[in-house]
Amino acid sequence: MSEDVQRVSGVITKIEEINSEIRNYEISFKQGREAAFCFAMGIYSSCGEICRPYTPVKINKECVVCPIKIYKQEGERKMLTPLVGTWKEGDSVDILWYRKKLPILEMLSEKHKTVFMISAGTGVTPMMQMLFYADANRMRNFKFVSVCLNKNETYRILRSCAEYPGLDLEIVDLYTQTEKGSRERSLMELRLEVEKIERETAIFCVSGPNSFVEAVSGPRKQEFGGMLKIMGVLDENCFKF
Ligand SMILES: Cc1cc2nc3c(=O)[nH]c(=O)nc-3n(C[C@H](O)[C@H](O)[C@H](O)COP(=O)(O)OP(=O)(O)OC[C@H]3O[C@@H](n4cnc5c(N)ncnc54)[C@H](O)[C@@H]3O)c2cc1C
Repeated sequence: MSEDVQRVSGVITKIEEINSEIRNYEISFKQGREAAFCFAMGIYSSCGEICRPYTPVKINKECVVCPIKIYKQEGERKMLTPLVGTWKEGDSVDILWYRKKLPILEMLSEKHKTVFMISAGTGVTPMMQMLFYADANRMRNFKFVSVCLNKNETYRILRSCAEYPGLDLEIVDLYTQTEKGSRERSLMELRLEVEKIERETAIFCVSGPNSFVEAVSGPRKQEFGGMLKIMGVLDENCFKF
């Protein structure tokens, strides 16, 4: 295993309910770890058979916090989150620790004035990791705007600017609900938020389910496109997580 990918043991030290489907899992490490900035880490099932990536939103030497949405078991399929849903404080958990996967520090270069974060559902977690890092490193020269789309307010994971007291941060919540046409309406509202800022000096970060990322910035791992491209945002100023 390379130095950047290490399997480590941890213990779940705190579970906090966000709503009936989403919980914050605080995982502490038996051996103290360097506070390396990482993008995602793998969490294993207790039998070690299943591993899925998660994005810690708080990272320090002894522990990380990961918001995890629990999905219902679908047939016989190997799924991790129905198992995570049964985990209790004090349980042991194995982690595959990845380091720096995206050039986040390069993204936060001096030339950009606004960091405009667009996310849907648990896609907000990489944005929260950036905010955590920016706050800890006193990056006061940026304006951060986070536009989060969620079904309704109980699904909000990024809840308050007060979590990042050192940052100039604005949180905009858009709700998609479930009625017909509400998704399109939310995308229109998102468009209005993008129109409010000076697009030439902003970087855009986009994260969420594939169909959402595609509508906003083109298919994941493919060419830039979607709403932002139509609005004149340059490819080099947009990062898809
Ligand atoms: C880089 C990366 C970071 C991630 N960070 C987080 C995180 O911080 N918190 C979190 O809860 N999840 C995160 N995920 C998703 C996570 O890795 C799992 O896919 C998810 O927990 C479902 O796992 P499962 O084994 O229970 O179900 P699976 O069998 O993998 O999927 C169950 C259902 O969930 C849907 N689904 C899977 N992944 C996503 C997704 N990313 N967005 C929307 N729907 C999805 C599937 O379509 C399916 O309907 C991340 C994924 C990636 C690639």
